[in-house]
Amino acid sequence: MQQKKTSQEERSAGGFCLDCGVEHALNEGDARLHCRALMQFLEEEERIDILAAKGKEDPQLTTAGLFSQSRGKMFGIMVCRAADGSERLLRAFSGQYNGIWEIDGWAPPIFDTGTFNRIYADIEPQVKQLGQEIDFTVHHSAQWRDLTEQRRQLSRQWMRGIHALYTLRNFRGQKRLLADAFAGSGGIPTGTGDCCAPKLFNQAACENLTPLGLAEFYWGRENVSLTRHHGHFYPSCAGKCAPILGFMLCGLDKLLLRQG
Ligand SMILES: [Zn+2]
Ligand SMILES: [Zn+2]
Repeated sequence: MQQKKTSQEERSAGGFCLDCGVEHALNEGDARLHCRALMQFLEEEERIDILAAKGKEDPQLTTAGLFSQSRGKMFGIMVCRAADGSERLLRAFSGQYNGIWEIDGWAPPIFDTGTFNRIYADIEPQVKQLGQEIDFTVHHSAQWRDLTEQRRQLSRQWMRGIHALYTLRNFRGQKRLLADAFAGSGGIPTGTGDCCAPKLFNQAACENLTPLGLAEFYWGRENVSLTRHHGHFYPSCAGKCAPILGFMLCGLDKLLLRQG
């Protein structure tokens, strides 16, 4: 009889490591069980401020938006072992939640939000102003082409500025800029580093925790391309995560071996 793989052995995150020339990966462990408990909370409470007491809920953090036009989101849980041998759970949502990057009880983004907001505040008005000027200029005239080019340059400058804020860490104690750690071919996709898996591995490395398992599920209205469905589990994505997880997971195998 064919034995079906248990979720424990299911590979949930990984990527090719350029330094070692091999693939590093992590399995689910019992993270899926913890995800089911989180799903139950989301189902019953319809909010994600898991640490807020009853009556003190933040109206910005309800799950209503996930079932609307703006659609659902990935959530992830990582089971870790702390230095004292105790177990720790880390939780993450992908990207921002309702425009918010940092929420108590959830993994922070990989970059410093203060610097991010400063760069944004600097560039955003310029992009807006250029957009207005473009609207009032005769389409495809020399001036229009000039303005459109300026706007293109500005958004490239923004992307470079943002990517420079992401410093990835791994389990060998190394730090590397996103652009240097990225092992994919072609450009770095927008949103790279903002998925659950990179946020969780980064938090674990920063806090000296050893990841034992990771699981991610989708919650809310299915995505536009219909590749994500409510309540389903998915491994880390191939386009944005795999190209950086090779670096981010480097050193973890040794750590797991040592701890047995
Ligand atoms: Zn991803
Ligand atoms: Zn490696």
